[in-house]
Amino acid sequence: MTTQNVPQKVSLLERIQPAVGGREILDPATVEVVGRAPEATMEDLDAAVARARAAQPGWAARSDADRAERLNAAAEAIEAHAEELAVLLSREQGKPLNGPNARFEVGACVAWLRATASFPVGPEVIVDDESGRAELHHRPLGVVGAIGPWNWPMMISIWQIAPSLRMGNTVVIKPSEYTPLSVLGLVEVLNTVLDPDVLIAVPGRGDTGDRLTRHPDIAKIMFTGSTPTGKKIIAAASETVKRLTMELGGNDAGIVLDDADPTAIAEDLFWGAFINTGQTCAAMKRLYVPDALYDQVCDALVAIAGQMPMGVGLDEANVLGPVQNRAQWEIVDRLVTAAQDSGARILIGGDPDPEVIAGRGGHFYPTTLVADIEEDNPLVVEEQFGPVLPIIRYTDLEQAITAANALEVGLGSSVWSSDLDRARAVAARLEAGTTWINKHGAVDPRIPFGGAKESGFGLEFGTHGLREVSQSHVIAW
Ligand code: NAD
Repeated sequence: MTTQNVPQKVSLLERIQPAVGGREILDPATVEVVGRAPEATMEDLDAAVARARAAQPGWAARSDADRAERLNAAAEAIEAHAEELAVLLSREQGKPLNGPNARFEVGACVAWLRATASFPVGPEVIVDDESGRAELHHRPLGVVGAIGPWNWPMMISIWQIAPSLRMGNTVVIKPSEYTPLSVLGLVEVLNTVLDPDVLIAVPGRGDTGDRLTRHPDIAKIMFTGSTPTGKKIIAAASETVKRLTMELGGNDAGIVLDDADPTAIAEDLFWGAFINTGQTCAAMKRLYVPDALYDQVCDALVAIAGQMPMGVGLDEANVLGPVQNRAQWEIVDRLVTAAQDSGARILIGGDPDPEVIAGRGGHFYPTTLVADIEEDNPLVVEEQFGPVLPIIRYTDLEQAITAANALEVGLGSSVWSSDLDRARAVAARLEAGTTWINKHGAVDPRIPFGGAKESGFGLEFGTHGLREVSQSHVIAW
């Protein structure tokens, strides 16, 4: 028997790594090398934009049904590579395979592609009466530039790519420098079913993102990342009057009302805050609890936090992982230390491993709950973006609502109560893009998602999301 004609299975990682060189990407849990990432030069970026621009008319000329069918084929291609993508994501980002983490994220990519393929986008008839008729059509914009963060690198990329492609745009995507391999792997899989040059990845750092933002042949930037970077992008995009969708930072408040059942809500409260080890834009980052329930909520959360295993992502038992990078770990450590120094009470966690403090080993930070903390403490007013939750005591509901609305950001928020009418009345007063009742952070491809205040502008998902990656065109007679 000869093996001569048997094709060698080439792994995704081998396909995306440069033949030589590249930047070593380390596993945040083990500090082992995951792989080597290519870095696009500015010339590479310009060439990518030119190719995507050349490919756009042909892609737009396909029928909408044809493009929707390509998105469904892309979902199937991801399913066929699901485990390989999940392992790559887990190793590079740190998130465990299990829990609401790597396998869940790959599954969400599939779900979002299929849902985005299904939403209606036909022209809308705005006026049709004796005065005449006006139709609102949605045309492609051209080439969309997508810039993403490191926390949910695959899922957020799909949030940017899927609606853009559906509407007849082509896409140049710049992944975070912390998680390029995940996005390159995803793009490699998508490109097995997409037309050439319809989707091109340009791995690089902030300067690559800046060049993309200023590029005259990019019609729109879809950005997900921090508010400070978002502000730079808004300024840079003004040069070419680019369209923008800005999904920026948050510091979501959760408010427990005094009729809630602490034991019943504790697990959902926990995951609302600690999903992806707290590294989630719309995770609960400060929890307001009334006097009457304060100790019960604290105790119930401590009981759950103590049961959730944290460790290396590829270990099937773990559901919490490391902080993705050292810079973020330092932010988390600084904020917990500030809370401790102010006299706040650490209910569980804090006290990171001395080896990790010294910069050795994976970037683990223990699951941490902080009680008896003042409203103006840095851990409350800054975005911790890690496995820490401050629990703030309140006596008067008005005081909690005022505190929840006091910050400049407003991405998500939540109200927890056994009385839906009461919860809805409080929800209506919160300044946020989304307010959930008895859950937090539950995104759905059918439901528009976006920020209030400095958490950004523009909506993603559903028909609203499709409109945002298109040029409105009224035809009236
Ligand atoms: P970041 O702002 O540091 O980086 C995001 C991306 O912007 C990276 O790809 C980076 O290379 C790029 N970038 C940096 N400087 C740039 C510039 N001048 N021009 C263009 N691009 C530039 O954010 P991060 O640390 O990767 O992500 C964490 C933040 O993202 C948190 O604040 C989190 O709340 C936010 N986030 C928001 C959402 C949302 O939907 N609103 C979702 C996920 C994360």
